Amino acid sequence: MLLKLRLYIWGAILVIVALFVLCLIVIGAYTSAISQSSVQQDYSNECGELNGVTENVMSYAPLVLKELDNQGLSTEYTNCLLAQMMQESGGNPPDVFQASESKYGYIGGIKTVEESIEQGVKRWVEIKKEIDGYENLTFNVDLLLQTYNFGSNYARWLSKLGSNHTEELAYEYSVYMAKRLNQPNLYRCHSVHQNGEACYGDFQYVAHVRRYLVNDGSIISPDNPQSGYFQVPYPNLHFRVTSDFKMRWGRMHQGIDLVAYHNAPVSASADGEIVDSRYSDSYGNLVTIKHDNGLYTRYAHLENRYAKVGNKVKQGQVIGTQGNTGRSYGSHLHFEIRKANDYNANSAINPRNYLELPKEGQ
Ligand SMILES: [Zn+2]
Repeated sequence: MLLKLRLYIWGAILVIVALFVLCLIVIGAYTSAISQSSVQQDYSNECGELNGVTENVMSYAPLVLKELDNQGLSTEYTNCLLAQMMQESGGNPPDVFQASESKYGYIGGIKTVEESIEQGVKRWVEIKKEIDGYENLTFNVDLLLQTYNFGSNYARWLSKLGSNHTEELAYEYSVYMAKRLNQPNLYRCHSVHQNGEACYGDFQYVAHVRRYLVNDGSIISPDNPQSGYFQVPYPNLHFRVTSDFKMRWGRMHQGIDLVAYHNAPVSASADGEIVDSRYSDSYGNLVTIKHDNGLYTRYAHLENRYAKVGNKVKQGQVIGTQGNTGRSYGSHLHFEIRKANDYNANSAINPRNYLELPKEGQ
């Protein structure tokens, strides 16, 4: 009888101890979850490490650093500017910052890489000064980048609102400007993200630059996964479709021809692996990417190739520039989507099945 009672007591103690330990585990997990969420940092002022930039861009790092120093801006911004250069041109000389318009008011005025970098940094200095001049705006890199893309009026518009930059506000501003300017040819929407409204500038410019930067060990993806697997090879450029996927000259045209401008940066349509990067007599400079969904995209007649077989690429990463190599009559991009990495007409898919593209000739 006494033994039985003792067993009951020990049993009860054991249950109490077990419950106590369980409580400790639950409380521990809960507090660590809370502290993890409070660790979530604001990266809007940081440049982080570079991710997926071309060798060309890397080779200009010393020039950018020197120019920041010359113009009295912190060299902490070097990687931000290199990521921006990647977004603007893929490091394609001479106008690596596509800064001709801001200096001369037209494209093609800048003749050397040094001049482009000087002008790019100059815009940073000017914009930073403007932002610092607005009492109700707090400077951060993201606000500067979006203002670089939209122009100084964006910072003024935000200061009137009394809000700092967010992607939502950039979207709103893009819609407002597109309506105000009403120049459909100049500001035509190309990306499905723009919903046919936010056609002025690139309201996702910050995200597009930041995909070349790593802050917290993860790559920041600019793209909304709901809006389709592939994106156009010219995500932020004005381009025309010069020839559709159809029978042409008695045979099947197995891709679609796109024209932005000669040497325009051509970017990967989705994440994947480079399975082909070579010169072919017909395709000219050719890059083929194998994607995780089992499909292949092919980019032909390139002027430059920035892709090595075996390299992993991210959507939007520049893999070459528009050119006129191989059997090509005029600078353009021949773009294909395929079920297999072969040259059969029946493995080619009409890119219009995956992409929102302007009509042929437009
Ligand atoms: Zn073609």
